[in-house]
Amino acid sequence: MSKIKMTTPLVEMDGDEMTRILWADIKELLIHPFVELKSEYYDLGLPHRDATKDQVTIDSANATKKYGVAVKCATITPNAQRMTEYNLHEMWKSPNGTIRAMLDGTVFRAPILVSGVKPTVRTWTQPITIARHAYGDVYRNVEIDVPGAGKAELVFTGEDGQEIRQTIFSFKGPGILQGVHNLDASISSFAHACFQYALSVKQDLWFSTKDTISKTYDHTFKDIFQEIYDSTYKAQFEAAGIEYFYTLIDDAVARVVRSKGGFIWACKNYDGDVMSDMVATAFGSLAMMTSVLVSPDGKFEYEAAHGTVTRHYYKYLKGEETSTNPVATIFAWSGALHKRGELDDLPELMAFADKLEKATIDTIESGVMTKDLALLWEGSECQAVNSRAFLEAIAQKLSA
Ligand code: NAP
Ligand code: MG
Repeated sequence: MSKIKMTTPLVEMDGDEMTRILWADIKELLIHPFVELKSEYYDLGLPHRDATKDQVTIDSANATKKYGVAVKCATITPNAQRMTEYNLHEMWKSPNGTIRAMLDGTVFRAPILVSGVKPTVRTWTQPITIARHAYGDVYRNVEIDVPGAGKAELVFTGEDGQEIRQTIFSFKGPGILQGVHNLDASISSFAHACFQYALSVKQDLWFSTKDTISKTYDHTFKDIFQEIYDSTYKAQFEAAGIEYFYTLIDDAVARVVRSKGGFIWACKNYDGDVMSDMVATAFGSLAMMTSVLVSPDGKFEYEAAHGTVTRHYYKYLKGEETSTNPVATIFAWSGALHKRGELDDLPELMAFADKLEKATIDTIESGVMTKDLALLWEGSECQAVNSRAFLEAIAQKLSA
C-alpha cells in the first residue's frame, strides 16, 4: 500500500507528560503507517522551552503564520511547583497564551459525540461549538472599593485634549465600582475568526450579547459583527447555505438548550468562560473536547481542550498501566490533516482524516474504550483498555 503524500508541511508542536507519550503513539500507530508525514517539528515540551528561553514557542507560532495549519500537543503552563520540578530558569508564560496573542486568534471548542455517551440535554444530537472572545471586559477590569459618600465619574481624555465625562453614580455610602473596556480591533478580529471558522465547518453562527441593556458597549459588538458580515461574508454564507444569527444572550441560552446542536455559538469573554464549562460538562467528558485556534486571516491550530493529564503521567512513570483517553488528540491530528488537505487540494489526505475519525468513533461504539469513557458508557457492554491497546484497536480498523 503506498502512503498518502503531502505537499506543504504541517506545523507540529510537541508537548508534555502523558499527552507527549500519546503523541508519539498516535504518530507511530495511526499516522506514519498511512501518511508520508511532512511536518515542521517544534518541541514545546517544557525542558526544551526552558533551554531555548521560550524562543521555540515564538518560532512555532511564526511557522503557523507561514504555513497556515498547526497541530499542538498539550503543554505544561509553569507554576511555582513546576519551577522546582523542572529546575526552570524562569516561569515561562502559557504557550497557548503566547500563540493566541501572536495569531490574534479565537478559540473554538467542540465536543466529539459517540452513541454510548448521552449528553445531559436530551435534544442535543450534534456538537455545539463555543467561540469565546479572549480580550478585555471584566478580565481587564479596574475596580474601586468605594469607602463612602462621593461622586463616581467616567472620564475619557483624548490625546488631542478632548474630554468626555459622565456621572456613573452619586454614592450616599460605601459601595463598589468597576471600569471595563474593549477595542474595535479586537472585536473585529474575533468577528472575522468566527465567520472564517463557520465557513470552514459549514455551520450556522450564532452571536449573543446584552445590547438592550448595554446600549453602547454590547451594542458595538453587535454592530461590528453585522457590518463585517454584510460587507465581507454574507455572499459566502449564502453560497455555503449557512446563516448568521444574532440574538440576546438570555434568548440564546433558551434556544441552545432546546436546540439539536450543530452550530457555533460566539460569546463575549465572560459568557464564553461560563457557557463553555456548562456546555462541555453537559456533553460528558473533557477528554472528548477538541479545540481550534483560528486567526482573523484564516490560520488554524488544532489541539485537545484538556491538559497534559499529570496524574496519569506520574502513575506511568511508576510503571503503572494508564488508560488515558487519546481521542481529542487524535481529532487534533485529523482536523489539521484535513485542513492541510483542503488548502493543498489533496482529496486523499482529506479522506484519510475522515477515515481516522470514523475508525476512532467506530472503535468506541464497538465497545472498546479507555476507562474514563467506560465509566460514562450507557451502551451495551464495553471493555476498558489501556491507551496503547485502544490505539492499536483503532489502527486495526483503519487498516481494514
Ligand atoms: P488535565 O490535564 O486536563 O487533567 C485533569 C483531569 O481530567 C485528569 O487528572 C483526568 O482525571 C481528567 N482528564 C483530562 N484529560 C483526560 C484524558 N485525555 N483522558 C482521561 N482523563 C483525562 O488538567 P490538569 O491536571 O489541571 O493540568 C495538567 C497540566 O496541563 C498543567 O500543567 C496545566 O498547565 C496543563 N494544561 C495545558 C493545557 C493546554 O496545553 N491546552 C490545558 C489545560 C491544562 P482523573 O485524574 O480523574 O482520571
Ligand atoms: Mg472557566
